Amino acid sequence: MSELIKLLQKDQPTLIYSNTQKEVQSLCDCIRRERKEFSVDFYHAGRSDAERESVQRRFQEDQLDIVCATVAFGMGIDKPNIRCVYHWGSPKSMETYYQQAGRAGRDGKQSKCVCFFNASSASLQSFYLAKDASTNQQREHTAAMLSTVKQYCQTDSCRRKFICNYFGEDVPDKCSNCDICTSSPAPKADFGADICSLVQVLVEINEKVLPLC
Ligand SMILES: [Zn+2]
Repeated sequence: MSELIKLLQKDQPTLIYSNTQKEVQSLCDCIRRERKEFSVDFYHAGRSDAERESVQRRFQEDQLDIVCATVAFGMGIDKPNIRCVYHWGSPKSMETYYQQAGRAGRDGKQSKCVCFFNASSASLQSFYLAKDASTNQQREHTAAMLSTVKQYCQTDSCRRKFICNYFGEDVPDKCSNCDICTSSPAPKADFGADICSLVQVLVEINEKVLPLC
């Protein structure tokens, strides 16, 4: 979570999506504690109508810098200057991801989307979603959706192309804008040090940061 909090910048209206009400609240608490210069609030279905309306209105009117929200946020929001959309955890489908990421930069100015993906949390999420499904068909559908999001997060080729191909659009192999297209080859790591370093490296690889412009 500290990696995400470090990325926050002033004058960059920001939405942070997470999958559960508990995570949304804890993200908001963490930002309030660690980055007091930001005005931040949270939005999920557990809050009252008046509270949700207030969060949405203040964000729309630039009185809030950051909103931490579940998927419940966004219906009817028309804020053209959202500069950053972060996903804390894997979205449930490419459709959800595309819709939420697409709230950034509606004014045409450069904006940023970053997904914090953790393979083990994604597996856990897949397990719970499968448990909630009432039919085998539903279970398979849910698993297929999540598996595509996982492929997107772990791909080593252009992310824009991945999304466009998913929605049936043919585009060039490189967008020159996403993290894959703009990154240089990974340096060779020296694993000759102690085991703690190795664990740290593995943790960092697992919690890959995936910017998409
Ligand atoms: Zn690309």
